Amino acid sequence: MNFSDFIKKYAAHPHYKAPTGTALHAKSWQTEAPLRMLLNNLDAQVAENPAELVVYGGTGQAARNVDAVEKIIKNLLELDEDHSLLVQSGKPVGIVRSHPMAPRVLIANSNLVPQWATWDHFNKLKENGLMMYGQMTAGSWIYIGTQGILQGTYETFVACGEKYFNGDLRGKLLVTGGLGGMGGAQPLAATMAGATFLGVDVDPERIKKRLETRYIDKMTTSYEEARDVSLAAKEKGEAVSIGLVADIGDTLEKLLADGIIPDILTDQTSAHDPINGYIPNGLTLAEAAELRTKSPKEYETRALKSMARHVGFMLELQKHGSRTFDYGNNLREFARQGGEINAFDFPGFVPEYIRPLFCEGKGPFRWAALSGDPEDIYTTDHTLIEAFPENKHMIRWLQEAQKKIAFQGLPCRICWLGLGEREKAGLLLNDLVKSGKIKAPIVIGRDHLDCGSVASPNRETEGMRDGSDAVSYWPLLNLMANAGGGATWISFHHGGGVGIGYSQHAGMVVLADGSDRAARCLSRVLYNDPALGIMRHSDAGYEKALKMGETFGVKIK
Ligand code: NAD
Repeated sequence: MNFSDFIKKYAAHPHYKAPTGTALHAKSWQTEAPLRMLLNNLDAQVAENPAELVVYGGTGQAARNVDAVEKIIKNLLELDEDHSLLVQSGKPVGIVRSHPMAPRVLIANSNLVPQWATWDHFNKLKENGLMMYGQMTAGSWIYIGTQGILQGTYETFVACGEKYFNGDLRGKLLVTGGLGGMGGAQPLAATMAGATFLGVDVDPERIKKRLETRYIDKMTTSYEEARDVSLAAKEKGEAVSIGLVADIGDTLEKLLADGIIPDILTDQTSAHDPINGYIPNGLTLAEAAELRTKSPKEYETRALKSMARHVGFMLELQKHGSRTFDYGNNLREFARQGGEINAFDFPGFVPEYIRPLFCEGKGPFRWAALSGDPEDIYTTDHTLIEAFPENKHMIRWLQEAQKKIAFQGLPCRICWLGLGEREKAGLLLNDLVKSGKIKAPIVIGRDHLDCGSVASPNRETEGMRDGSDAVSYWPLLNLMANAGGGATWISFHHGGGVGIGYSQHAGMVVLADGSDRAARCLSRVLYNDPALGIMRHSDAGYEKALKMGETFGVKIK
C-alpha cells in the first residue's frame, strides 16, 4: 500500500485506526509496532479527543499536529533497521544511523530548562507551534485506554482497604471527582474492589464514554438521586458505581451539608493544568471554554481558587473521618497556590499505598496484541496464569479483567509485575509469538509512573526516606539503560500527570516478535527497567528494596 492510500485508510484526520492482522505495512515489525501504537493512541475508541490529537490527561497529545502525524507515519513506513527516528514534542525532526538492536524511535516531549519550566512559558511555546504536552503514555504511544490505569487504581483501592478497612470494602462509600481518560478507571476499580462508588464530572460526555465501555453502571444529573442511590447501595453492601454530572466542589459541599462522610475520598479531575484542565466552579463547560480563550489569566485565577475551595471540603471531610488522599493530579499544589494553606495535610497515594510495591520493582507492566485479535490477549492471560501459580493476586486480577474489561482499540492487558517476573513474562510472550500460538507480535511497555522511571516530588517520589524527592538522575539513567538494553522505542518527558515544572519521567516499549533478537532485548530491558526501581529505592534506604537487590544481584559490589 502506498503512503497516500495508507493515510486514507488508517489516518484520515480525525479517523485514526491501527492496522490489524499479520501483514506488514512498514519494513519490519520493529517499525510496524510503533506505527500501529501511534495510530492506536489516536483511535476514537482510545483517545479522549482525536480531533485535537489529545489522548488523555487534559491536553496529553500523541503528536504535535496533523502534519506531524503524517510525517511520522511516512518515516516509520520507510525506516529500516539501521536507522532510528527522532521525535521532538510530537514532531519528527531527524533520522540517525543505528543498528538492529537499537531503539527504532527516540522521543523527547515537553522538556524545558528548569528556570523556564512553567505553564506560562510552555503555553507560549505551544501557541507558537513549538511544543506539545506529552503527558506520560500519550506522547510515547503506549496508552492503552482506561484499562491502563485500571489495575493501578484497583491496587490502590485494595491497599487502602487493607490498611484501613480490614481488607473489606463492601459497604464502604468511595467518592471522587473526574471521570476522564484516567479518572474513568475509578468506578470499575472501586466496584472490582467491592466498594460503592460515587464519581462526579462536569462533562456528561465523559461519563457517557464510561457507560459505553462498561466502566460505570449509572449516570445522573441529579445530586439527590446520586446521593440516594449510592447510600442505598452502601447500606446493602452493593458494589455499584454512579456518575453524577456536577462540579466536584459543589458536590462535596452538599455531602457535608447532608452529613454524608465518604469512607474514602480522592480526586482525578485534570487539576495538573489550571488553564486547559480543571473547570472553575460556577462555570458551564461552554462558559469555561469562552473564558479560557478570552482571558486565560482570569481562568487560571478562578481555577486555582476553585481548587482551594474543593480541597477545603476534602480537608473538612477528612476531619470527619474520610480516608483522603491525592490521586496524582497535583491538586494539593494548585489548591495551595489558590489559597488553601493546609492543602498538603492529606497524603499522596504513592507514599500512602504504592511505595512498598515500588520497592519490589513492581509497576504497571502492560502489553498489546498487534494482531488486533482479542483471542491473542486471552492466550497471554492463560499463559501467565499457568506460569505464576503462586501469584494468587495476579491470577484473580487476570480472571476478573477477562470478565469485566471491554477492550478499546488494539486488545491489551495490564498487570503489575515485579523484578524477575517482568523478564519471565516477556520471554513467555515472545515464545507464544515464536510458536505461532498468537498470530502477530506483542508490544510490551509500561506507564512512566513506575518504580525507577520518574522523579515527581508531589507524586511518585513524594516524601522519599532520604529527602531525594526532586533528584531526577533516575529517569535519565532509566532512559539510557533502556536505550542500551535495546527497547524498541524510548521517551523522556517533562510534566506528565502533575504538570509543567513538577516531574521528569522516562518511558519504554519493547517488541516481542518471536525472534532471538527480541528475546535478547526483552531479557535485558525487562531486567534493567525494574532493576532501576530497586536501585532508586535501595539508594534512598528502603529495606525491602535492599533485600530485593540482594536476591536479584542488583547490588553494587
Ligand atoms: P482528563 O482530562 O481525561 O479528565 C479530567 C476530567 O475532570 C474531565 O472529564 C473533566 O470534565 C473533569 N473535571 C474538570 N474539572 C472538574 C470539576 N471542577 N468538577 C468535576 N469534574 C471536573 O484527565 P485524566 O486522563 O482522567 O487524568 C486526570 C488527572 O489525573 C490528570 O491531572 C492527570 O494528570 C492525572 N493522572 C493521574 C494518574 C495516576 O496514576 N494517579 C495517572 C495519569 C494521570
